[in-house]
Amino acid sequence: MTSSGTVLVVNSGSSSIKYQLVDPVLGDAVASGLVERIGEETGAIRHTFGDVKVERDEPVPDHGAGLRAVLALFGEVGPHLEDANVIAVGHRVVQGGDQFSGPVLVDADVVRKIDELSPLAPLHNPPNLAGIRVARELLPDVPHVAVFDTAFFHTLPDAAATYAIDRDVAREHKVRRYGAHGTSHHFVSRETARVLGRRVEDVNQIVLHLGNGASASAIRGGVAVDTSMGLTPLEGLVMGTRSGDIDPAVLIHLQRNAGLSVDDVDDLLNRRSGLKGLAGENDLRNVHALADDGNADARLALDVYAHRLKKYIGAYHAVLGRLDAITFTAGVGENDDIVRAMACAGLEALGIAVDPHRNAGRKKEPTIISPDWTSTVVLVVPTNEELAIARQAVEVAEAAGLPGTSDESDPAPASAGHA
Ligand code: ADP
Repeated sequence: MTSSGTVLVVNSGSSSIKYQLVDPVLGDAVASGLVERIGEETGAIRHTFGDVKVERDEPVPDHGAGLRAVLALFGEVGPHLEDANVIAVGHRVVQGGDQFSGPVLVDADVVRKIDELSPLAPLHNPPNLAGIRVARELLPDVPHVAVFDTAFFHTLPDAAATYAIDRDVAREHKVRRYGAHGTSHHFVSRETARVLGRRVEDVNQIVLHLGNGASASAIRGGVAVDTSMGLTPLEGLVMGTRSGDIDPAVLIHLQRNAGLSVDDVDDLLNRRSGLKGLAGENDLRNVHALADDGNADARLALDVYAHRLKKYIGAYHAVLGRLDAITFTAGVGENDDIVRAMACAGLEALGIAVDPHRNAGRKKEPTIISPDWTSTVVLVVPTNEELAIARQAVEVAEAAGLPGTSDESDPAPASAGHA
């Protein structure tokens, strides 16, 4: 990467916009913020620049108003975007389907395709697109790059990506495993190799991204070969409010016998399940507090959470054959030593263990937490999705030889990932 300047990274959700102004070379967040409760009666905007933190409670009617307010705050509080030399805007997009295998420069065709993929990600792609549309209007002179959560999993072998249902139904409705959190799995897998002092091509690893949403991936030599999220981010691990894996017949049973509609089931599995459904709390810190007080539901929630993790570790160990590393990342993975220890407990016969002393506490830096004797190194590596998006945005803008990026002599196609 040769550019000097900053990238505005935008993560536009259904009722929120998270943003960060990132220096892609140094890896620092120059400024960051969050617009919350868009479309509700009481909205809020938080903006941080250096030591200055500004909080405003005001209604934010839509994404356009939210982003306009953010740009105004950059002007008032800093940094001024003209001084910050914004060379690209990077947009997180959840579902790239079979259309996008890497980041792409946003144009009318890309906007249309993201829109067409909305049925596969009805909760995510429409708000992602709303952010892209508004940002392009407000910042028309900078390249906008879409970075897809699914792109890293474009390499999944058919055996891992295919659901065992009627092939014609699957084909017609584009039903297959697409995965999600790919930007984080990609970033963390490269960081893991760096920490181990090995080439990523030589490392077989499992990455466990445990935030509010949670996903596991099996990565062979830097290439994803399996992942726990599926057609949507609902499948796989137990999450804050999502069930993860479940017998599909449970849905049929509830619709037939409990009078639940399709929307009720959607709400149940996406918002009222996982830790929230089991313990009444989606934040693991609160689940621990309840469990410490002897709450049986909270203890069971922890056991279910850790049991699912352990099953995926075993399954992906088998998928990979040789397993060099397991990496924990995101809010839970980086901070929760109890969950890390529970997930790896009793796996000594597989060459996996966690050293209690090395594991103890929250980890702000990459840390090896396994003892020296294990065949698999267990690590914690903080993820940084904003930095990963910023770097990919610069690469795409540079490859297109766009003004503002310094590598203008190399006009490689900007849409290399545009399948
Ligand atoms: P998101 O998926 O929203 O990006 P994060 O990766 O920030 O989420 O993770 C948020 C979750 O991390 C919280 O809901 C909480 O369960 C967990 N978490 C954060 N800090 C801690 C902590 N100190 N101990 C245990 N869990 C934590």
